[in-house]
This record gives sequence, structure tokens and C-alpha cells, in this order.
Amino acid sequence: MNVYRHTVAADGEWHTLHLTGMIIHVATRHEHMVELWSIHHDDRPTMKRRLRVYRTGQYVPEGCQIVGSAITPTGMYVWHLIEGCPEDTGEDDGAGCGRIICTFCAPLGPKR
Ligand SMILES: [Zn+2]
Repeated sequence: MNVYRHTVAADGEWHTLHLTGMIIHVATRHEHMVELWSIHHDDRPTMKRRLRVYRTGQYVPEGCQIVGSAITPTGMYVWHLIEGCPEDTGEDDGAGCGRIICTFCAPLGPKR
């Protein structure tokens, strides 16, 4: 087991990471980037994780989950790392992935 570091740009886009373990910390040493640390296991399959950085007060689609928040070095920004369903289209249409059992999309109900 190792701890790996990853970065997600605060660019208003969804980013996909392939992780083998849980995210254990969110912080940042950059003004426009969030860093996260995750457990890595060499012998475990990767899981697709869809992540995006949101500003305070910015609308987050229903079904998304908060991973953590990070204050930038200057204190200018507080970024929020949000995780969405890995199988969603990324259209932000609120429709979800359409699967009946999904920890992200289940609260949205059937695909519209
Ligand atoms: Zn889903």
C-alpha cells in the first residue's frame, strides 16, 4: 500500500482519475488546482472516479457528493472537490446515468 498524490485543475471541467483506494485528504498549494491524496494498492483494480472543482456558491448538480474542500495559499479561494457518477455523461443535465442502483444517481430517480 502507498499514498499517492493527484491534482485536479479548478477549470470548471470534469476530470477522471483511476484510483485503487479511498481518497484520504484534500488540500491545495496552488491557487487554481486542488490536490488529493489517495490510498494506492498495486494488486487491486482501478476505479473510475469523476471529479470536478466547484467554487463556493456555485450550483452543484443533484446526486454529486462532496469529497472535501481546500483553501488556497493566498486565502483568495476556497475550492470544493465534488465527485459525480462515473458513468454519467457529464452533460450536467441532471439525468444521471440511468442505472437503477447507483449511489450517485439513485436520488434522481429514473432517467428522464
Ligand atoms: Zn449513476
